[in-house]
Amino acid sequence: MKKKIEKGQEFIHTYSHLFQCPICQARMQARQTSLCCSNGHQFDLSKKGTLYFLKHQAKSEYQKKMFEHRRMMIKSGMYQPLLAFLAAYCEDERILDVGCGEGSFLQEIAEAVNLQASVGFDIAKEAIYLATEDTHDIFWCVADLTNLPFANQTFSTILNIFSPSNYAEFRRVLQKEGQVIKVVPQSGYLKELRKAFYPDDVTKQNYSNEQVVKKFERSFSSVVYKRLTYSFAVPEDRRWSLLEMSPLEWGVSSAQKESISQETLEKITVDLDILIGKNE
Ligand SMILES: [Zn+2]
Repeated sequence: MKKKIEKGQEFIHTYSHLFQCPICQARMQARQTSLCCSNGHQFDLSKKGTLYFLKHQAKSEYQKKMFEHRRMMIKSGMYQPLLAFLAAYCEDERILDVGCGEGSFLQEIAEAVNLQASVGFDIAKEAIYLATEDTHDIFWCVADLTNLPFANQTFSTILNIFSPSNYAEFRRVLQKEGQVIKVVPQSGYLKELRKAFYPDDVTKQNYSNEQVVKKFERSFSSVVYKRLTYSFAVPEDRRWSLLEMSPLEWGVSSAQKESISQETLEKITVDLDILIGKNE
């Protein structure tokens, strides 16, 4: 089996045209295990075959542990109906997965349909290292959402699943007529968890994505909506992962989590809006 760095090297040599320098926006060329621009900025592959495009070390609140739990939940089938829906829009696409975390969503899609060589990035290095356990032809890197290290009109699809967005950058790196697929929580998403975490705080129990949807409509054309709502039976040995995978858990004590995992989490509601818009 190929080493991770060899896999990364092969990718940047074959697909150097997908990238651009995040410092000076010049084109990049692959040299051995690095990508270099004509102004001398150089980005070296890590041993895991990833590239690090941030100027400064980013302090991330996200922990490796949280991404491992997230992967467990995705692998346990919690998002299967979502993945089945997304796969239908991803056949033969060249995908950029924005804020890909540990990469499970893109990997599951690559398992289901054929993709062109695709890229996932996140600001959290820990998550990107986990993503390299993947065996598909996907390239993983650490990058800044507001200054993407990719050339203009490179990708045919941007996936933006539960992650922040920068629509100016999305439009720049998307091909003409390319699509953005954005997945955002709807009002019932993980409602059992919110209720358990914040039993006395109704404002935290409720969630509205209205502003997010409006902004998306202003940024892309021919927007298609799909609301996906279902209940997922949480396998008993996954209840702890469900509690640990979400930023919702911040500020909740382990004792409280322990009692929630025992009692209230047999079923969890997944309630999502999927927005698909075109770049013009
Ligand atoms: Zn440069």
